[in-house]
Amino acid sequence: MRPKECKKCQSKRIVKSGFKKLVDRKVQRYKCQECGHYFTTQEKFHHLSQEKIELIHKMYEEKGEQRKIARILGISLKAVQHHLKKKDEAND
Ligand SMILES: [Zn+2]
Repeated sequence: MRPKECKKCQSKRIVKSGFKKLVDRKVQRYKCQECGHYFTTQEKFHHLSQEKIELIHKMYEEKGEQRKIARILGISLKAVQHHLKKKDEAND
């Protein structure tokens, strides 16, 4: 999935810029030509099963370190933070 715009400045001038290596896979990395911000698509987050997402929250509530959760589940730390953040926002 190709991002439509820069997450920082919403510019459409985006170019591929190599890969970012995660524990179990590589993800396409992009660079914004406008502000120089590097980012990857969030597509990988959506590939997590509901079970895994629930596990993230469960482990976190049991005082699990985010880094440890990521390692145990074989996902990126960013993915863990992404889902934890999403839950916080939902609590509004
Ligand atoms: Zn930008």
